[in-house]
Amino acid sequence: MKNIKVIAFDADDTLFINETYFAETEEKFCCLMSDYLSNQGISKELFRIEIENLKLYGYGIKGYILSMIEAAMSISNNTLPVEIIEKIIQYGKELLEKPIVLLEGVEETLSALHGKFKLVVATKGDLLDQRRKLHNSGLGIYFHHIEVMSDKQEIDYSDLIKRLEIQPEEFFMIGNSLKSDVLPVLAIGGHAVHIPFHTTWAHEKIDHKVEHENFRTYEKIIDVLGRLQV
Ligand SMILES: [Mg+2]
Repeated sequence: MKNIKVIAFDADDTLFINETYFAETEEKFCCLMSDYLSNQGISKELFRIEIENLKLYGYGIKGYILSMIEAAMSISNNTLPVEIIEKIIQYGKELLEKPIVLLEGVEETLSALHGKFKLVVATKGDLLDQRRKLHNSGLGIYFHHIEVMSDKQEIDYSDLIKRLEIQPEEFFMIGNSLKSDVLPVLAIGGHAVHIPFHTTWAHEKIDHKVEHENFRTYEKIIDVLGRLQV
């Protein structure tokens, strides 16, 4: 661990609350469409369309809004009133203006690591939205810069490490998603820590255990200080 030079933090549900807001919005969307289908059916159709659209829109709220509109059209067999589209757009804008709520121990952790390592944010999502959240979080002072990645596959992390001019074993990633923040980083030879959040988007779930010498799971983000001997 003494070789670590760069510590990268996932943003959503690692630094601040995110999935909770998406879950709330999905609930409102199901309510809005309840004349057409059961909640379960609506959620299933929305998820199907979201995943199909990822390759075109990428991750983030703007793509999510378009997917809600597309799902509403499909669920209503293209008979939905324009008021429903209006509502969906309003839900999306509300989602873009949600308050930034830092998770427990984040500020203490960053402040303890600041100056000892190069700290970066490595996140998916919309560039403008992620920048807004980081700015409003007040955490910007701790970070060297923010990387808004189009995806978090092995190739994306390899590119990031190359740009940072470090070796994979000098890279340490902290995040709430085993699929996006842990597995690809371990695969290229980096270190990773998983801090689970109580709600995980279905797309980020994996169904097997992760065991690796470069990997740990902690309940709280502050626990990484022990791992990094700070
Ligand atoms: Mg996350």
